[in-house]
Amino acid sequence: MRQDLLSDIQNRLGRDRVKVSEPLSQHTTYRVGGPADLFYEAQTVDELVHAVKLARSLHLPFFILGLGANILVGDKGIRGLVVKNRCAGIEFKGRGRVVAESGAVVADLIEQTKAGGLSGLEHFAGIPSTVGGALWQNLHFLAPDRNRTVFVEEVLLGATLLTEEGDVIEVGKDYFSFGYDESVLHHRKDVVLKAAFELVPASVADIQQIVDENLRWRAEKHPDLRQFPSAGSVFRQIEGLGAGRLIDQCGLKGFTIGRAQVSPKHANFIVNLGGASASDVVQLIQLCKEKVKERFGAELTEEIRMVGEFCR
Ligand SMILES: Cc1cc2nc3c(=O)[nH]c(=O)nc-3n(C[C@H](O)[C@H](O)[C@H](O)COP(=O)(O)OP(=O)(O)OC[C@H]3O[C@@H](n4cnc5c(N)ncnc54)[C@H](O)[C@@H]3O)c2cc1C
Repeated sequence: MRQDLLSDIQNRLGRDRVKVSEPLSQHTTYRVGGPADLFYEAQTVDELVHAVKLARSLHLPFFILGLGANILVGDKGIRGLVVKNRCAGIEFKGRGRVVAESGAVVADLIEQTKAGGLSGLEHFAGIPSTVGGALWQNLHFLAPDRNRTVFVEEVLLGATLLTEEGDVIEVGKDYFSFGYDESVLHHRKDVVLKAAFELVPASVADIQQIVDENLRWRAEKHPDLRQFPSAGSVFRQIEGLGAGRLIDQCGLKGFTIGRAQVSPKHANFIVNLGGASASDVVQLIQLCKEKVKERFGAELTEEIRMVGEFCR
């Protein structure tokens, strides 16, 4: 990066606040990823807006990072500015309405709304996510009866955005055109600043019961993130059929390339055994796609987002 550009950014965001060549493996749940040219942690919504506007005015590419739980960052890292979103304020507005800044961690939001006797977010217990990441992907999990999927859009009222065009606006949830693993944020470079949720009263004990059941279910079915870093399910469902089942039927459970492995516990998880490169993960992704195509004629598509530069 040009020295004058770097100095300009450091002067405007704070010399001690902008890190150069920050390893993104430290900021993703995969524990994989090369360096960000520049890395800045926005602590307030004003700082988030300022950093994005600055990058846009300098024609510098930027990437908004939540918990890095749904991305695979390439081994060569991300060019431009990575803005780690740490705006985490949560406000109770009365009548079940809660407004959270987009860097708020969903687990904290669940804890606080549970303590306030408000139900609706407990379905997402155990999923690593910020509020911004949750809206990007329309966070989802199985309902307590395990027969239906609950989406975050169901409890969302609206949001405050910094739009692609540079305006700060309030939008209703329809703006997001939510689908399964889908929202307008995949197609527009809007940045979520805050989100408003509408929750319903419930007893703390009832909410806690759903949290506990979900955590138990996840612990039974999914590899433990602390031991086996991952970004959750790698592939989308195909016509309601779990990709993991197809991968399993290809005999790929436990298959390893480098330090990445198709989890023996759940075949839609590709885990980092420690020291995996993005390239290891990408090769396993390719292999799963090829084998599933060969055996079932079905095309797997990634649910996780590939970000930055990958080695060829
Ligand atoms: C063990 C494990 C289990 C998982 N289980 C589930 C599950 O059951 N259900 C499920 O839906 N997901 C699951 N996931 C995936 C992941 O947790 C979600 O997709 C989550 O919402 C990602 O949030 P994040 O903050 O980490 O986003 P990141 O991964 O940091 O970012 C994802 C995308 O969102 C964009 N983004 C983030 N913040 C903003 C913002 N403020 N404005 C605009 N864009 C933004 C980023 O730029 C990026 O494109 C799982 C992941 C793991 C590791």
